Amino acid sequence: MSLSSLRQQLLAGATTPAAILGQLAEAIAARDGHTGAYLSHDFAAAMAEAERADLTLPLGGIPIAIKDNINVLGQPCTCGSRFLAENYRSPYDATVIRKLRAAGAIPFGRMNLDEFAMGSSTENSALQTTRNPHDGARIPGGSSGGSAAAVADHTAIAALGSDTGGSIRQPAAHCGVVGLKPSYGRVSRYGLVAFASSLDQIGPLTHSVEDAARLLQVIAGPDPLDSTCLDVAVPDYLSGLDEGVKGLKLGLPKEYFGAGIDPGVRRQVEAAVQALAAQGAELVDISLPHTAYAVATYYVIAPAEASSNLSRFDGIRYGHRAASPVDLLDLYQRSREEGFGPEVKRRIILGTYVLSSGYYDAYYSRAQKVRTLIRRDFEAAFARVDAILSPVAPTPARKLGGLAIDPLQEYLSDIFTLAPNLAGICAISVPCGVTAFDGASALPVGLQILGPHLGEATLLRIARAAEACR
Ligand code: GLN
Repeated sequence: MSLSSLRQQLLAGATTPAAILGQLAEAIAARDGHTGAYLSHDFAAAMAEAERADLTLPLGGIPIAIKDNINVLGQPCTCGSRFLAENYRSPYDATVIRKLRAAGAIPFGRMNLDEFAMGSSTENSALQTTRNPHDGARIPGGSSGGSAAAVADHTAIAALGSDTGGSIRQPAAHCGVVGLKPSYGRVSRYGLVAFASSLDQIGPLTHSVEDAARLLQVIAGPDPLDSTCLDVAVPDYLSGLDEGVKGLKLGLPKEYFGAGIDPGVRRQVEAAVQALAAQGAELVDISLPHTAYAVATYYVIAPAEASSNLSRFDGIRYGHRAASPVDLLDLYQRSREEGFGPEVKRRIILGTYVLSSGYYDAYYSRAQKVRTLIRRDFEAAFARVDAILSPVAPTPARKLGGLAIDPLQEYLSDIFTLAPNLAGICAISVPCGVTAFDGASALPVGLQILGPHLGEATLLRIARAAEACR
């Protein structure tokens, strides 16, 4: 059920926050043993909050599922890692959690993810496997795979995820739900466990575009605790939602519709594009010439920042600590060796390498320059069009177990979602039908819509139109 209809029912007295939580608990008991979206939940604490919920607030009495890399006071925050799974409890609320609470929402449930949000399948979680509710043999996508799978499985009403290079949009596409990555600086990251600080954003995964707008409305806005969070007013994301796309110019980048896209994905995305044109949008062929460098650029910058951010996991301050160290170095080394999984180690090694003396100029500085070119591609495009349309991922959800084959192949599948983070612009994934793929008869496909920096209002309006015609 959508946030708006739940809210109406709550205000009309047709249901209560406790009844909603009870239904969620039943759904989780019935299905989540198979889906594996939840890492933990504290039903008793949520019930206590439900009892004193203020229903007049925008999200009054509504439970929201939280990716397990966002701190919620007193709850675990494992980041899908053995490092934090043993003994870490959050000593404070992230700003988005504080804002959710101020809007009456109940943060309920901690959702599985790739370890420290590194991955696109949730298979890098050190803690459990999450399955795609549309086909239990397949990945839910990632890294916000638990958040997306729970919304699709109707074991959550709406969820928060984080997106560094596609981690909200790609699982949303694979699970057939809506996922919004806000512009860099739109939403505070205070209390989000940092992966790559120049790329990370928190955003909603929901059943509908309207629900995404409602959640963004609550979590967006300035925060003195995050200096990268912009001190600019938050517009009303709901009022213009149904204004349609008539007269809007929508760009089709030739680089995003080239070889390598599954034919079923292409068919569904092109059908969604034509449906928007039929509603009066003008289609414009554009080019984003530096697209081919996005994967290489991202996989230099993101690991570089990760290697620095993850240096705080040292066995001293919190999380895993190796037993009986012989000296300080041994404590650091074994705590990290035992606490981190293979993908996190790969990223730390890559990141340390590209930042090291003698390689810094060849890799890290070079990547920063290419990043500027990628951002300029978008600036030039947005001088001509209001938004850009593309697939979210080249294929629908692949089968579980593919990760072992080749990490590079996995990185390449992020081709359409990385550039928006490098450019800092906003982006949304909207379901656009299903397709047969690799032996499965009907897997969800996502349409990606990209908007200029802080262009969320128009982005949501286009997404609403795309959703209405599917
Ligand atoms: N798949 C990308 C990566 O592995 C993006 C992950 C994310 O957005 N957190 O880094």
